[in-house]
Amino acid sequence: PTVRPQDTGVPYLDIRHLHKRYGSFTALQSVSLQIQRGELVCFLGPSGCGKTTLLRAIAGLEAQTSGEIWQDGKNISELPAAQRDYGIVFQSYALFPNLTVADNVAYGLVSQRQPKGLVAQKVHALLETVGLSGSGPKYPAQLSGGQQQRVALARALAMSPGLLLLDEPLSALDATVRVHLRNEIRALQQRLYVTTIMVTHDQEEAMAIADRVVVMNHGVVEQVGTPMEIYQRPATPFVAEFIGKANKLQAIAVGDGGITLGGHKLFCPQAPQLAKGQALDVYLRPEDCSVHNCTAMPPAASVPPATGAPVWTARVEHLEFLGATCIVHADVPRLPEQRIQLQLSPAQWAQLDVQPGRWLQFSVNATQLKIFAQ
Ligand code: ATP
Repeated sequence: PTVRPQDTGVPYLDIRHLHKRYGSFTALQSVSLQIQRGELVCFLGPSGCGKTTLLRAIAGLEAQTSGEIWQDGKNISELPAAQRDYGIVFQSYALFPNLTVADNVAYGLVSQRQPKGLVAQKVHALLETVGLSGSGPKYPAQLSGGQQQRVALARALAMSPGLLLLDEPLSALDATVRVHLRNEIRALQQRLYVTTIMVTHDQEEAMAIADRVVVMNHGVVEQVGTPMEIYQRPATPFVAEFIGKANKLQAIAVGDGGITLGGHKLFCPQAPQLAKGQALDVYLRPEDCSVHNCTAMPPAASVPPATGAPVWTARVEHLEFLGATCIVHADVPRLPEQRIQLQLSPAQWAQLDVQPGRWLQFSVNATQLKIFAQ
């Protein structure tokens, strides 16, 4: 069983106001972040947002322009990479092609001049840990991409680092291997209780395995939260749009948590305090819509559901069947944006006979709308 060190209350990794400039270009802007011991944190964001730069600064592979990095209570900001306590895995495996798998894993241990027998024992255990027992004598070129990345992982863990840094480790792998390996990384990380940072641009990957996700955009941290927090309570419009699917709609604040959206008034207790008349951007997730009926002709009048929620009419344009769910693309004449996406279960889809050209009536779960002043 894993022995978990006492929580000291001090974050394991503490990044304070980190700036990184390349000439006049700002790659990181005042990034502050605390990571607790044993956490798995994902840096997530679009290409060029600075996630790799931040990881490389933590590794000492890139010097920050200003700011500090503290690890395990020590200021490591100026420490050379070789003296920092981490193991790293890159997207491109970066194994030594002329060394066997075992020698790749043993590399750090051998350069530390650890006794031969002990090195062999450790390598054996590490290869077992990553599911590659028996592959020690092979060369990297004889392994699949996924297997090579397991070797890279074993090599990164060989020195029992305090911090494991993973820079898009799964990006080069095909979808099935990627999902399999990400779950194994998570299980291994939990078993070893090693503080881990993984850079990814794949939100599903981040949501699936992270304790917390750091959402970045243009060198700035937009939000840090659990996968559920960033999905359900996005802190900024960027996060609302970047994480999951959302319809972006225009609305107006009418005071006391009320908004008008597409001609209807909705009560949204989660809305921030807003001045009457304030223009709003409202994000509606496809699953926060309930479809009540679907007919061949446009309905004459909207039939309010039992809840009394306002009802909109929409014309079905096309459908995306995704297996577990079905996304309906529909035009809503009363919404200025017109085109929205609604989610149905396949059973509802069949039962209501939702087809292009037919008309449906739906209402929205107002308490789930993500609301921002424009
Ligand atoms: P990706 O997913 O594409 O790797 P990223 O979020 O990891 O993106 P970074 O690699 O951290 O992004 O780069 C952040 C920004 O800094 C990018 O706009 C990049 O062009 C710029 N940048 C990175 N390294 C340098 C460099 N050595 N010189 C100049 N600009 C750089």
